[in-house]
Formats: sequence, structure tokens, C-alpha cells
Amino acid sequence: MTDTQAVHRTNTAVLIACLPCLVLFASPVWAQDLGPNFRKIKDGIYVQSSREVNSTSSIVLTEEGAVIIDTGQTLIDSREVMQAVRKLTNLPVRIVINTEVHPDHTTGNFVFSPPALVVNHVGASDAMRKAFDPERASTLAKQSPEMREAVQGYRLVTPHVEYQNKTTLRVGERTLELIHMRGVHSEADTAVWLPNERVLFAASVALPGSINNIRPFVQIPDMLAAMRMMRSLNPDIVVPGHGSFGTVKIFDDNERYYTLLLERVGALVRAGRTLEQVKQELRMPEYADWSYPERMPSNVEAAYRAATAR
Ligand SMILES: [Zn+2]
Repeated sequence: MTDTQAVHRTNTAVLIACLPCLVLFASPVWAQDLGPNFRKIKDGIYVQSSREVNSTSSIVLTEEGAVIIDTGQTLIDSREVMQAVRKLTNLPVRIVINTEVHPDHTTGNFVFSPPALVVNHVGASDAMRKAFDPERASTLAKQSPEMREAVQGYRLVTPHVEYQNKTTLRVGERTLELIHMRGVHSEADTAVWLPNERVLFAASVALPGSINNIRPFVQIPDMLAAMRMMRSLNPDIVVPGHGSFGTVKIFDDNERYYTLLLERVGALVRAGRTLEQVKQELRMPEYADWSYPERMPSNVEAAYRAATAR
């Protein structure tokens, strides 16, 4: 064998060994090429959010196509995510995972489906149909010329696949574990765990630097249990349903907030205060800089439910 042949063989071997890489790196795209709203988390994993408090929409590339986790705060965001997918890969979007049922995570489902199958926990479709406003498209179209454009073709797309408790998706080289979190935010909340990449998409249980909107059917102890479950997965990166991605510190900060809230509301309840009095008297100055202080009453009501449930 000549030297040239040896080199040629080596190159061929490298090429064959690296065929999956060729698919991923066929057209190198930098996160900044996707626009200012995108961040790269790990190779082939990107997150989009158009404002700090807005919902996140994530793209997970695989050898068999893209997986989208939540479909954008608004339909303008959904279109932007779809454009990013087109820059990143020639392969189709295979699966959309909804981490909850609310419109700021699901209205854009129709942008990706078909061909994508939409997945969330049992109960998601029923809840989405029940909350559906038939005027949604016309209301959105009135917002701006851009929105009128983005809403073209809108229809309600609810999950095609509803799993029970836990399921595993294997798409190309990626493994995505879907874990149901009961009663923590909406009628169907899903954490998405990528064990090989150690990336966790944490839904909207714990938001960084933001007071959450706690619905009447949500119990704070269930939220805390979900945060502990997610922390026990030991993720490197946590992508919350809203806001910037980070680490398990998002859970630590939220756990500290809810623990203090339960403590203070509990003390007022034991001192004989009514719910209305607790709302008047409770102070949480440590969290004065968190977004959405107007959601505080829903937090006090949830803490009051917990304090009076015993
Ligand atoms: Zn929500």
C-alpha cells in the first residue's frame, strides 16, 4: 500500500465513522445566525425566547429530524422557531412536546404539525379543547400586521399522543424522557429530561426571578415535590418554561421562596387571620424585584390552602 492509499483509507474510515456528524454539521449554523432570540445550549440544542418573561421554545436536532419543545410565546415566535429549524436542518420536525396546555406554549403547534406528532400527558387535549376560544385567530390578527401574517392557517392542534405518568422517546441518537408532574401548573405538565446530554426542560413549575400564576387546583407541596424530583435528576442545564436557562439554582431559589411564603402565611393563619387579612398583611420584601408582583394574591391563596389543609 502506498502512503497515498493509506491516507485515503484513513480518510474514508474517518468519514464512515463520522457519518452522523456529517448530518449534524452539513450546514454549520451559529446560534447568532438564528437571530438575537436564540441561545445554543449544547450541540444541536437551541432555545428561543423573545423576552425574559416569555415562554421558551426549544429545538433539539437529531439524525432523524427535529424535536420542538413548546411552540412559542406568540405565533411570531413560532414562525421564528420554524425559520431557525429550516436554517439548521433539511430534515422534518418529527415531534412537538408541549410541557403544559396554556396558549403561550401550544398555540403554535399548527406551525409544526403536520408533519410533527404532538405529545403531552393525558388530559392535555381535553383541557386545550375546553379552554379554546373560537375567536382566538381573529383576536390575534387584530394585534398587528405581523401577527395577522403569523396567524395564517391557524387551527387548534392538540396532542396526538397522550402518555401516562412517564414515557421515553427515542428519536435518532437522542433519548428524551417525559415525566408527568401532577397538579403543579396546568392540567398536564411535562418535564423533558435528556439523560445523555444532562439537559432538563423543566416546564413552568419554577420560573427564574418571577412570581408564578398559581391556579386554584395547584398545591404548593406538589410544586415543591416536582422541584425536588427534577433536582434529583442532577441536570447540568435547566431550561424553564419561561425565562433564561440556568442550573438547579432555579429550583433552589423557588424552593426558598415557597418555603418562606408557607412559613409566613402559616404564622398568620395560626394567629387567627382570615385569607383577606393575610393578603393585606403578608410582606415578602426579599422578592420585591421578581417579575409579576400582581400574581401575589394567587400565591397567598395557595399558601393559605396549604396552611388550612392540615
Ligand atoms: Zn402556563
